[in-house]
Amino acid sequence: MSPRPLVPARRRWLEGSLAVAALALAGVAGHGRPRLINPCHAALSAELAAHPLVAAAWSGLDPARVWDCHVHLAGVGDGGSGIRVTPRMLRPWHPLEYVQRLFYMNAACVDDAPGRVDDSFVERLQGLMADMPAGFKLMLYAFEQAHDRAGLPLPGQTSLHVPDGWARRVARAAPQAFEWVCSIHPYRADAIATLAAAAADGARAVKWLPQAMAIDPADAACDRFYDALARLDLPLITHAGEEWAVQGAGPPDWGNPLRLRRALDRGVRVVLAHCASLGELADLDRGGAAPSIASFELFARMMDEPRARSRLYGDLSAVVFRNRDPGVVRRLIETEDWHDRLLFGSDYPLPGVVPLTAPSSLAAAGLLDLDAVDVLERLQLFNPLLFDLVLKRALRSGGSALPAGVFETRRVFAPTPA
Ligand SMILES: [Zn+2]
Repeated sequence: MSPRPLVPARRRWLEGSLAVAALALAGVAGHGRPRLINPCHAALSAELAAHPLVAAAWSGLDPARVWDCHVHLAGVGDGGSGIRVTPRMLRPWHPLEYVQRLFYMNAACVDDAPGRVDDSFVERLQGLMADMPAGFKLMLYAFEQAHDRAGLPLPGQTSLHVPDGWARRVARAAPQAFEWVCSIHPYRADAIATLAAAAADGARAVKWLPQAMAIDPADAACDRFYDALARLDLPLITHAGEEWAVQGAGPPDWGNPLRLRRALDRGVRVVLAHCASLGELADLDRGGAAPSIASFELFARMMDEPRARSRLYGDLSAVVFRNRDPGVVRRLIETEDWHDRLLFGSDYPLPGVVPLTAPSSLAAAGLLDLDAVDVLERLQLFNPLLFDLVLKRALRSGGSALPAGVFETRRVFAPTPA
């Protein structure tokens, strides 16, 4: 049990800058919530820890089987992590990316003092894990650089790079709490050897964000990587749908779920992050004109195809954010045929971006009991990981809920005991 870090002076500076930025954003958006800043409370109160809604969330789950399969590591590379972020994110004269970074850093409650960002990101995660039952784990993501067709890195077009070595190191330092997920560009000359080494080092999956990393999943150049994934039986977790969290180095359509059929057909188990729940993409099955439709509909079509029965999954990260259609959550709950292929994931630190999830909106859409709103809003300010789990356990549609198996994701990433 590690104590939560106290609020350092530098973080107060961060929060001050963020408050100004948030006010500006709220003005632009025309509608604000009373709270935009994560106050980074230091510990879960006894009242919240014992709240019936929290108890109900864990009831019927075996924590040792509950892995949050979608957790980002971030930082600025000041702690020997090797993390690099685009300079645009560090400079106020690129306001969008700058403010985005401030929100992420606030969501993760980092200490912004020089030399402390990377480490305090991890310390906060460890502190949050102290509120969770033993056995529960997070799958921590590395994040690959963009590469060109020749397999050479493109640092100038890379928004965020979190090296495999950092994710592995953080996970190894706390194996009771963390697993790690490697991120390897398939065009790299050493991609297959690197993948085999990561698998041998305990990586539980591979993570891609095709638009950001400049990967076309439908490209034949990916085939040797797909064959290696199938041989190693390592799942590929890939962001699908529209992507706004990280700036792209490739075209938006590289996030088209239909492009992953190529991986499925080569025997790869594929996890489509967010169930492709954001934006519209080309319906590539309709030929040249290819009108755009909701990318979630492309996900739905693929989930129903025979090739996907044993190999295609969707993760629940981000599906509850307010930039999603509530109809997505309704379909996920009501389509029982998908349930054994839906996987719990939070997209941390984004559940800590306070205005991004609105329990009251979910309640207004009939997906959440009104009584749950107050406790969820308070929980978010203490522990975004627990908040995300309790929220998703409490979702209801037509009297149904997501079954326990959706949350017990370990079955997909480590079917046999470690
Ligand atoms: Zn993510």
